[in-house]
Amino acid sequence: MAAHVIAVANQKGGVGKTTTTINLGACLASAGKRVLIVDADAQGNATSGVGVSKADVAKDIYDVLVSEEPIQSAIMKTKHQNLSIVPATIQLAGAEIELTNQMAREMRLKLGLQPVLDQYDYVLVDCPPSLGQLSINAFTAANSILIPVQSEYYALEGLSQLLNTVRLVQKHFNPTLSIEGVLLTMYDARTNLGAQVIAEVRKYFGDKVYDVVIPRITRLAEAPSYGLPIIDYDPKSKGAEVYEALTKEVLAAHGE
Ligand code: ADP
Ligand code: MG
Repeated sequence: MAAHVIAVANQKGGVGKTTTTINLGACLASAGKRVLIVDADAQGNATSGVGVSKADVAKDIYDVLVSEEPIQSAIMKTKHQNLSIVPATIQLAGAEIELTNQMAREMRLKLGLQPVLDQYDYVLVDCPPSLGQLSINAFTAANSILIPVQSEYYALEGLSQLLNTVRLVQKHFNPTLSIEGVLLTMYDARTNLGAQVIAEVRKYFGDKVYDVVIPRITRLAEAPSYGLPIIDYDPKSKGAEVYEALTKEVLAAHGE
């Protein structure tokens, strides 16, 4: 069976997209799934976060999208079993502009992934903090979108813009694109605000919101500097526990 492709997206920066991509990816891999992360952000945080050094990158996602190099030449294994990545480096920063004048620019990731889809169970695309060509490519290639939402006052701000973009992509390129789920992140139990925001997001998205809420946890922020997912950095930690809970919900949603 072909992989289920999930775009992890929200055009706001710092809401937990990369953290969720890395840790959901690693937990799915530990559950025996074959997982490919696609780093679609020029910052390359998913790449370094799974322990891939930029110096070791031969081909990256830019080469796949802009130069149409075969994706196989860009896939790298990580130290985590069953977890591979198509890395990003700073050259991806030019891709938004360079794709603008190219044919079928929205389809590049979808076409690029096609030859390897049957080698994975899940492909997770870590989207950049914008709704430009890279996110459009991710939405066109994806079966569904997972939206991390920071549990803070302006949480819902910008989400209508995101959902509009989803509708446009559904209309023009990918009619079956669905919402995988909405994940509340960086919850701070010490403020009342967090609980209010959670209620508001649940009211807006209903049962699309995952039961598990990711708290603000220092270990989750530390792990990337060691190039490790939380389940490898500190397997018994609260951070590992909550991302394992998310993984169970995602698997259950796919009948597993
Ligand atoms: P995005 O990819 O949406 O920009 P990141 O996943 O990179 O967001 O998270 C932004 C910053 O917050 C990073 O430094 C990350 O390590 C940290 N972070 C993410 N999730 C948590 C969390 N649950 N608790 C504490 N820090 C977090
Ligand atoms: Mg990121």
